[in-house]
Amino acid sequence: MSRQQQAVERARKAFRTGRSKQIEYRITQLKSLQRFLVERNQDICDALKKDLNKSEIGTPLYETMGLEGEIMLAVRKLKDWAAPRPVEKSLLTLTDRVFIQPEPLGVVLIIGAWNYPWAVTLQPLIGAIAAGNAAVVKPSEVSAHTAKVMEELLPIYLDKELYPVVTGGVPETQELLRQRFDHIFYTGNPAVGKLVMEAAARHLTPVILELGGKSPCYIDKDCDITIACRRVTWGKFTNCGQTCIAPDYILCEPSIQDRVLEEIGKCVKEFYTDDPKACEDYGRMINQRHFKRVMALTEDSTIAVGGENDESQCYIAPTVLRDVRPDSKVMQEEIFGPVLPIVTVSGVDEAISFINAREKPLALYIFSKDKKLIRHVISETSSGGVLANDCLVHYSVSSLPFGGVGNSGMGCYHGKHSFDQLSHLRGCLIKSLGMEGANSMRYPPHTAKKLSWARFFLLKHIDFGRLGRVAMFTVLALLAAVVIQRYLQ
Ligand code: NAD
Repeated sequence: MSRQQQAVERARKAFRTGRSKQIEYRITQLKSLQRFLVERNQDICDALKKDLNKSEIGTPLYETMGLEGEIMLAVRKLKDWAAPRPVEKSLLTLTDRVFIQPEPLGVVLIIGAWNYPWAVTLQPLIGAIAAGNAAVVKPSEVSAHTAKVMEELLPIYLDKELYPVVTGGVPETQELLRQRFDHIFYTGNPAVGKLVMEAAARHLTPVILELGGKSPCYIDKDCDITIACRRVTWGKFTNCGQTCIAPDYILCEPSIQDRVLEEIGKCVKEFYTDDPKACEDYGRMINQRHFKRVMALTEDSTIAVGGENDESQCYIAPTVLRDVRPDSKVMQEEIFGPVLPIVTVSGVDEAISFINAREKPLALYIFSKDKKLIRHVISETSSGGVLANDCLVHYSVSSLPFGGVGNSGMGCYHGKHSFDQLSHLRGCLIKSLGMEGANSMRYPPHTAKKLSWARFFLLKHIDFGRLGRVAMFTVLALLAAVVIQRYLQ
């Protein structure tokens, strides 16, 4: 039996003990996970420094603080989320209990990516624990130092039977994918996303795919360009451009291109000094393969800002390309690095056509003072999420579902969305054995009269929320009496 198979079997056995179903147990595990983040902050920072040159401040800011917030939210709300949810009643169910009961799915497989290796791996785990599942956690092998710390330290804090960490590369992940899970949560690129979905289909396992793509950023000329460029510079060059929701490219009118270039150039200096290579807050490409890939994307375009690089350090300076052609290399794939192309368009309608002619992106950014224009762009396009007049921060709003659409993914998470997506929302109807007379309308022999009553009971809409309780029961009692006595006997 392979190592992967053993981990899945152990997790399933642990799930069957029923301990993860206990709300108190889930809360204890979540609190332990939070303790791990606090007590092992230094180990986490050291690993991220080696993997991506993340700074000691950048690590809590971009990785672990959000996780702590999600844990605190889940601990606070879990009893509500897990409780039966009464739903609207109809004439036919007025005296019944009708509710949704969230229940755990079973064993969840979480496959993480390397760019924010803690955030994208542990955030789904928070949802899986909260929803009462077991989970097999597979961190990305590409962020190797992080994977090692996760494998060594997480089991000290969490129930290691229920939540095992399984490390490894492609063959190990493929072996995991051959196992049967009750849900698979994958974060990574769309090509592998298809393989994950294929493997999941063999067991009819549902999936959440958190993928990427080219997220456009439209800067309108009616906008505070200085502020817009500060926010775009931050959103693009954080983590050296390796953010799934980084603005991939700018669309703007030719008349403001020079201003945009000038402002972004100023912000790069302000944020990362004249020498970003020596700046603590500026990251590195994850490895030489990605370094070479991103450098090659710039080959047929004009560099207006940055362009300096050093392969030995996987360093690429914050770089902006001007007058980029739609058929240039950099516009053919998600950049996932610190290179920002500007494509000029004649106005908002051409920007919308440009966006709609491509795959649906994970994020869409619009900068404008004009609220009508913002609403117009939102209504004429589609994307996983949309953010006006800022970058990235919609990720941190737990009440918003975070996820893609079309090529940028399926399913969503964060806050209660994670809980719901990793639960089975079971429809429950509890009737009494009384009131049998009212059922006559569905029993043979079928008659035209019974049919017209069935039509009334099934199709008549009464807003019971508006009626008082007493009025509601009076209506019901009257109806039942009339139906039973005069028509159905
Ligand atoms: P990656 O190389 O770390 O791969 C992700 C996971 O897939 C890893 O755990 C890896 O082991 C596994 N994997 C890779 N190849 C596989 C194969 N052939 N079969 C089975 N498993 C395989 O990460 P990546 O794909 O380079 O990540 C970058 C992409 O992820 C970008 O497109 C980015 O936009 C996207 N991303 C999306 C989100 C989101 O929340 N939507 C977050 C982060 C990254």
